[in-house]
Amino acid sequence: MQKKRATALQLEWGGKPCDHPALAKEYDEGARTGNYVCTQCGAFISFRERAEILKKRPPKA
Ligand SMILES: [Zn+2]
Repeated sequence: MQKKRATALQLEWGGKPCDHPALAKEYDEGARTGNYVCTQCGAFISFRERAEILKKRPPKA
């Protein structure tokens, strides 16, 4: 997801709580930033934060 799109999503989402159900790779001007963004709320998620989220979330059966 483009960084600009993520920023727009953040505004749309309006800072409500989100458990970040779906993460996408973040791109800025077409280049990977190494970070992730939540496709629901647009939050920027670092590689490490993503690992924490995935660890807390039980795998779907
Ligand atoms: Zn989220």
